[in-house]
Amino acid sequence: MDHKHFSHLHNLTIHHPYELGKQVVCSGCHFPCDNTTTAVHACHQCNFFLHDHCANAGRYVKHPSHKLHPLILLPYPTYAGSTFICNACGRPGKSFSYCCALCEFDLHVGCAMLPVSVVSEHHEHELGLYYGVQVVPRRGSNTEQEYCNICNKVLEGRNWAYCCQSCDFNVHTSCATTEVVPGLYQDDLSQCGAVDGQGQPADGGGGGGNAVEVELTEAELEKLMFDLKLQMLAQSMASLGKIG
Ligand SMILES: [Zn+2]
Ligand SMILES: [Zn+2]
Ligand SMILES: [Zn+2]
Ligand SMILES: [Zn+2]
Ligand SMILES: [Zn+2]
Ligand SMILES: [Zn+2]
Repeated sequence: MDHKHFSHLHNLTIHHPYELGKQVVCSGCHFPCDNTTTAVHACHQCNFFLHDHCANAGRYVKHPSHKLHPLILLPYPTYAGSTFICNACGRPGKSFSYCCALCEFDLHVGCAMLPVSVVSEHHEHELGLYYGVQVVPRRGSNTEQEYCNICNKVLEGRNWAYCCQSCDFNVHTSCATTEVVPGLYQDDLSQCGAVDGQGQPADGGGGGGNAVEVELTEAELEKLMFDLKLQMLAQSMASLGKIG
């Protein structure tokens, strides 16, 4: 069954990963489509592949980490250099992002779908997702450096972390899990409320990080896209100004 995805010129066909007979990398998130991938959406002539969750990622989400504005799914970054820095994991990305152009806030698709809590083999308690330094209690002064309890590398306060508050056990999101929760924050399924009643992880304000229902009309989405284009125009004018 063919279908069209907004990020690609040609129709995509859906396969099981083992049907492809080779290891392929998702063009949306640059992670491999391995055996844990439920389905792969493919354009063979272009060597273009998408995870099911990347292909089905909503055109916008209302993400609890950025409550000011909806995040728009962009097929490629609009910044100079064609990369974005993910506000969740701090790593660069060059394909799909959930972007608020007004705030220059960007998330990898996978980071936008991180579960609000995970169980890790490295810790006996469930770990909750925290959106950076403003919700993670810091020990002592802010000159004290946090380190990831799994890889022992620096844990940047501005990036997200999975934490067990009672044990002061804090780890990189990527060290804790590779899991994604498809459809998180783009519909009203409440299957993600596992951390209810355990303090204030993730969205910080009640609801325990449940999916936030997004009700945008087509007209409102148009308006958002228009604002985004204006913002992009302003950015390119500004960068032209710097060059000239
Ligand atoms: Zn992907
Ligand atoms: Zn193609
Ligand atoms: Zn990320
Ligand atoms: Zn914003
Ligand atoms: Zn780590
Ligand atoms: Zn613990």
